[in-house]
Amino acid sequence: MDYQKLAQLLYPDIDKTPEYYEEKYPPRDLPEGAKVTRFAPSPTGFVHFGGLFPVTVCERLAHQSGGVFMLRIEDTDSKREVEGAEMDIIRAFEHFGIRFDESIVHGGDYGPYRQSDRKAIYQCYAKYLVANGHAYPCFCSAEELDELRARQEEAKVTPGYYGEYVRCRDLSYEEVEANLKAGKPFVLRFRSNGNAENKVKITDLIKGNLEITENSIDHVLLKSDGIPTYHMAHAVDDHLMRTTHVIRGEEWLPSLPYHVQLFQALGFRLPKYMHISQLMRLEGTAKKKLSKRDAGAGITYYFSEGYAPECVTEYVMTLLNSNFEDWRRANPNEDIDKFPFAIKKMSPSGCLFDMAKLNDVCKNVVSRMDAETVYNKVTGWAEEYDPELHALLTRDPDYSRRILGIGRGGAKPRKDIALWKEVKEYVSFFFEELFTVSAEMPANVEPADRVKILTAFAESYDETADQTAWFDGIRAIAESVGYAGDMKAYKAEPEKYRGHIGDVSMCLRVAVTGRESSPDMYEVMKILGAEKVTARCLAAAKA
Ligand code: GLU
Repeated sequence: MDYQKLAQLLYPDIDKTPEYYEEKYPPRDLPEGAKVTRFAPSPTGFVHFGGLFPVTVCERLAHQSGGVFMLRIEDTDSKREVEGAEMDIIRAFEHFGIRFDESIVHGGDYGPYRQSDRKAIYQCYAKYLVANGHAYPCFCSAEELDELRARQEEAKVTPGYYGEYVRCRDLSYEEVEANLKAGKPFVLRFRSNGNAENKVKITDLIKGNLEITENSIDHVLLKSDGIPTYHMAHAVDDHLMRTTHVIRGEEWLPSLPYHVQLFQALGFRLPKYMHISQLMRLEGTAKKKLSKRDAGAGITYYFSEGYAPECVTEYVMTLLNSNFEDWRRANPNEDIDKFPFAIKKMSPSGCLFDMAKLNDVCKNVVSRMDAETVYNKVTGWAEEYDPELHALLTRDPDYSRRILGIGRGGAKPRKDIALWKEVKEYVSFFFEELFTVSAEMPANVEPADRVKILTAFAESYDETADQTAWFDGIRAIAESVGYAGDMKAYKAEPEKYRGHIGDVSMCLRVAVTGRESSPDMYEVMKILGAEKVTARCLAAAKA
């Protein structure tokens, strides 16, 4: 068979050669060791939170090494495509601080970055494969393939187009020509020389040395509309875009021997591979995939709940590199990009998603922010997601900053807030329109005592007093109503007292904040101001 002639017959309009593209997309001029990575999502309209893991790996490896990080839109499966999805992907990841160097919006010299715009490139390489005997047209109809699959199911053998099941592998030039003349559609298949009895030795940078079954199947390279399958597009794109590290989901691992064959047939150098396990979650003790319907699977959830991007990034890094938390303890205020991300610190079995751990990490990160930063971030979030909170906080920015500043800045900052959605509840008692008393007064305080305590405090509260004087005042009130002014004395002889200073403080806390736990009451009262403090105490005395 004259393969050159066959190639011309199949793709008469393709006049470019691989040399043309090799020249157009030359090896990148980058420093030694620079990594070129890409994230290659399909625009399905759903951006999975799990995507942040490979994206972060790609981004870190590229930028940490002085390399390039690309976003390639894989839209060859038009059935799954959704209008606007491409921009949603870019926006979602940029929100989390991911910088793409090249993409449909950032441009770049190695584009187009959307596969549907690369049809002629794929066809050029398809033609090359035909011309070298590595690919052939297959005219089998859908019915014929269904029938083949049924036979294979019945015989309980591996499904696919291979071995004794192939029909079009050895069609003559004349047969192909006649089929084309008759207007029969065809797909282009890879001519595999593999044997499923063999194992291929492959090294994955995360999973280590692997042995995977060799590919014996004549897979489809181009569909009947001339659009490539994932495999063909992967080989051509990652070669021409000069990807050095292919970082992708582990579901592609079984196809890797096929990809190795394809790269060989195309004369391409094999990139390095890193297969990342799916993000899992715990259900009881069982590990389950974090699937689309699970809480927290969609990335937009993190926008609407008000997760600060740096919190999420911190969490992602905690899961990705086993030594990250140690590094963070040693470098609490360092920019996360200074962390030396290492492939060998990644777990081959992947990451386990845990919302509680995420929220803990968020609390830590938020606790390190100053009041101004928190104020800006919360109001930025609230403007879009909670206009009522936005209006409250921006009415008197100084007042809000003081509230958000409680317990910040010291060696052990308070960890009240994980996400911005929680801020409203947290600050609610500072605003009359949100203030409600939801806690009970301590049960052991007689109503008459409560009235005395609250009235005495209201009458004597001095917002200019320092913390010691303020507390001495409370102690004096406690003693005046027969409560122990210190806990030690109370514990030694409880029968001597009607209660203790803790009960008195709790009365004040419930009266002023409406709840049983709150940040430091001295601070809280100073921010609220004498007018509100006394009014609330008197109201609670009457209740
Ligand atoms: N479009 C493929 C996917 O979403 C990309 C896999 C890859 O990164 O090569 O699974």
